[in-house]
Parts: sequence; C-alpha cells; structure tokens
Amino acid sequence: MGEQPELYEYEPEPKNRGYELLRKDVIRCANCKKPLVDVIKVKEDINLIKETKANCPYCGDESFVYRTTGEVFMQASDGVSIVNPKVEFVNNIIKQYMEMMKNE
Ligand SMILES: [Zn+2]
Repeated sequence: MGEQPELYEYEPEPKNRGYELLRKDVIRCANCKKPLVDVIKVKEDINLIKETKANCPYCGDESFVYRTTGEVFMQASDGVSIVNPKVEFVNNIIKQYMEMMKNE
C-alpha cells in the first residue's frame, strides 16, 4: 500500500487572491524615453497610493513621478536592473525611488 500523496503548499494563482491583470504600463525616462520599470496593476485600492521614480542609467536623467493606486507589481524592464529601491511613507503615500543599472 502506497503512502498518501503529500499535500504541498503552493503560491496560489493571482486570481485566487482577487488579483487580475488590470493594467500594464512602463515607467520611462523623461528625457530619453527608454523603458526602466514595468508596472503591472493587479488590484484596485484607491487608498493604496504609490509614487515611483527611477533614475535612468542610459542618459543619467530620471523618469517623471509615476503615480499608481492599488496593488502593483514592479520589475526592471529589459536591459536594466533595479539595484537599490528606496521606500518612504509620506502622508499616506508610498514613495519609491528606484536606482537602476544597465545590464552588462
Ligand atoms: Zn534616459
């Protein structure tokens, strides 16, 4: 007689947590327009406000402040990495500054 198959924990699909793909966007450099950070919004929550800014490793400039509400996933766009995200909480707004680096 075999053993019971082991039950295992797994990361539920995003939709199981009430997540769905609501919006995909890209934070770009304000100057040279290169893509810096991919933004995927999965859940609306107007009380959860994030303002994100990234520096541009291509030209040394920065993105504009990118404001989101709700739950968002952020990852480096192709060709760059996020090396040093700084986060502060100011007046109920999450302010993040992404220090970016070009991939070699
Ligand atoms: Zn740039």
